[in-house]
Amino acid sequence: MTNQPEYDVIVVGAGMVGAALALALGREGFKVALVDAHAPQLEWPQDGYDIRVSAITRASQHVFESLGAWPIMQAERISPYRDMHVWDAGGDGVIHFDSADIGEPDLGHIIENRVIVKGLHTCLAEEANVTPFWPVRPQAMTLSETETSLVLADGTKLQARLLVGADGARSWIRQQAGISVKGWDYDQVALVTWVKPEQFHQETAWQRFLATGPLAFLPLTEGYCSIVWSTAPEHAAQLKAMDEDRFAQELQAAFENKLGRIDAIGPRAMFPLRTFETQHYILPRLALVGDAAHTIHPLAGQGVNLGLADMASLLQVLTAAQQQRRDIGSETTLRRYERWRRADNRSMLLAMDGFKRLFSTDQATLRWMRNLGLKLTDNVLPLKRFIMQQALGKDVPHIHS
Ligand SMILES: Cc1cc2nc3c(=O)[nH]c(=O)nc-3n(C[C@H](O)[C@H](O)[C@H](O)COP(=O)(O)OP(=O)(O)OC[C@H]3O[C@@H](n4cnc5c(N)ncnc54)[C@H](O)[C@@H]3O)c2cc1C
Repeated sequence: MTNQPEYDVIVVGAGMVGAALALALGREGFKVALVDAHAPQLEWPQDGYDIRVSAITRASQHVFESLGAWPIMQAERISPYRDMHVWDAGGDGVIHFDSADIGEPDLGHIIENRVIVKGLHTCLAEEANVTPFWPVRPQAMTLSETETSLVLADGTKLQARLLVGADGARSWIRQQAGISVKGWDYDQVALVTWVKPEQFHQETAWQRFLATGPLAFLPLTEGYCSIVWSTAPEHAAQLKAMDEDRFAQELQAAFENKLGRIDAIGPRAMFPLRTFETQHYILPRLALVGDAAHTIHPLAGQGVNLGLADMASLLQVLTAAQQQRRDIGSETTLRRYERWRRADNRSMLLAMDGFKRLFSTDQATLRWMRNLGLKLTDNVLPLKRFIMQQALGKDVPHIHS
């Protein structure tokens, strides 16, 4: 008789995607070990906002609702956006999306990353099938024909039928598995902060495309906005180093004073921007999800939404395999997940990359075409409705509550 490994799945990375996956697997009866280098942050001072926020689509909201994490996030604080207003600094092209045009109450929600993590981890604390291991890093990993094993820095040895890397863009699991990535660095970083503009944001996600990169004002509670300003690294470094008055002036000018004077400003931080996709999402006994498998320019706010779609797809594939008494870690089982997600993720990665390049060109003909495109699209309601339905992201697999 062969010894069964103690766990069905080891998930490395308890961020937004890994925590959601571990929780969903636990609910389906899988025994899960969840490992993270850091303990989750569940408390913070009442003043200010997390500088990292995510635009969460309706599809991702449904994932959180199914997991029971949504009411916890709502009770903490979330901000709906009912409109999107996008315009081009290199012309007069404007496009405006209104949720009322598709009979929806909103187009999504802006949520602080720490609120999302708190919602998921509060539920995880109640899930007996998930055993947490943090703060600790994995030190050695082995993938054999029948199982996978992971040795943690404190000497703990974990064994399972499947290992999932949800450990972010610089994934240690991916590197250990020797899976290469294909992509490109933008010569851009994102300068992020939060501010209080003089005028109310009107529950609108605002985005202005400058030649140096997009600048977004995303609505938070109490009239505050989260800022994501993608620009050249030297420019971002200057913006970060400026005193508050000077920074406020630069921000107002870059945003064409749309919401008036900038009053309060939070801490500023920079994040490098890359787009890549891994050569493989899976190996026998291994699957990658979220940023470990792909990263995307934040201009359309899709990164974590794609990761949650990965997680819901993998869950469905593993649950079906378990029901049919197939091996959840076999290449045949995992191949279905890879085929499913690679196609979706690649089309989004390429679309966002094309969009970003189109808006950073100085070429007069392309500039003229993109402004015309924005204006024409803005006047065709059925097309706008279609784009909004896509943006809601309704095609994520259903998760049982
Ligand atoms: C400026 C900016 C704005 C963005 N805006 C949006 C947006 O509006 N909407 C959106 O959908 N996406 C957005 N994104 C993308 C989004 O933040 C990422 O896609 C998302 O964080 C990926 O989640 P993840 O769980 O896969 O990885 P991560 O959030 O990176 O989590 C990885 C986890 O793994 C752990 N870990 C890492 N290494 C190890 C290790 N060796 N051992 C153990 N644990 C480890 C970490 O501690 C962490 O908990 C934005 C990104 C940027 C940079």
